[in-house]
Amino acid sequence: MKNGFEYITENYRRICAGIEEAKAKYRSPDDNIQLMAVTKTVSPEAVNHAISMGIRLLGENRVQEYESKKDYYNPVASVHFIGHLQTNKVKYIIEDMDLIQSVDSIKLAAEIDRQAKRVNKVQNVLVEVNIGCEESKSGVSPDDLENLLYEAAKFENIHVKGLMTIPPSEKSEKFLCKMQQLYLDISSKNMDNIDMDILSMGMSGDYIKAIEYGSNLVRIGSALFGARKYM
Ligand SMILES: *Cc1c(COP(=O)(O)O)cnc(C)c1O
Repeated sequence: MKNGFEYITENYRRICAGIEEAKAKYRSPDDNIQLMAVTKTVSPEAVNHAISMGIRLLGENRVQEYESKKDYYNPVASVHFIGHLQTNKVKYIIEDMDLIQSVDSIKLAAEIDRQAKRVNKVQNVLVEVNIGCEESKSGVSPDDLENLLYEAAKFENIHVKGLMTIPPSEKSEKFLCKMQQLYLDISSKNMDNIDMDILSMGMSGDYIKAIEYGSNLVRIGSALFGARKYM
């Protein structure tokens, strides 16, 4: 049946093949690499088409946009928040998110803990690292990471599951490598109440490289849905 979303089908197959190829080349056969569809500016119909192909993980950047689309999503997919999150908006998304990937301050962690308590859940989170120390990007600096993890571990209704990053577009490989080192370094410290299960890195332009450097969750937008048309 033609529904106008055949390009998503093709893109999805190409991305899955790329992931499998990278995995065969750089990783062990039992490594699990999750593919997230990043939904910003994409219609719920297109998102649901991706779900019908096999996508089971959606990434949301904007609270308002998510609110306007969530009722139309096929609920079989789980949803992660990946955008910059203001503390006053945590309350709107806390019940829906299986993972909040963008924790970058103690203040935000404290508010997530408070809201998670209110709705009776333990919220899984990743800490976002600004690996290139770029002015324009959110995320904690590599130097402050350990302290933020130490503080986040004290909250009862938060569970840290790993790290997320968006490397600089220039010299991205160097930063993917640096991020892998940091992730392994933190893992080896076995911090109380902190798990390092997830390394979320790799987008449309660098997901193959990110898999080479240990990513187990790639976040793909434009390579799956086409170039974004900003509304
Ligand atoms: C937009 C976005 C992506 C996906 O970007 P593409 O280059 O379109 O694949 C991944 N992660 C985050 C945090 C994003 O905001």
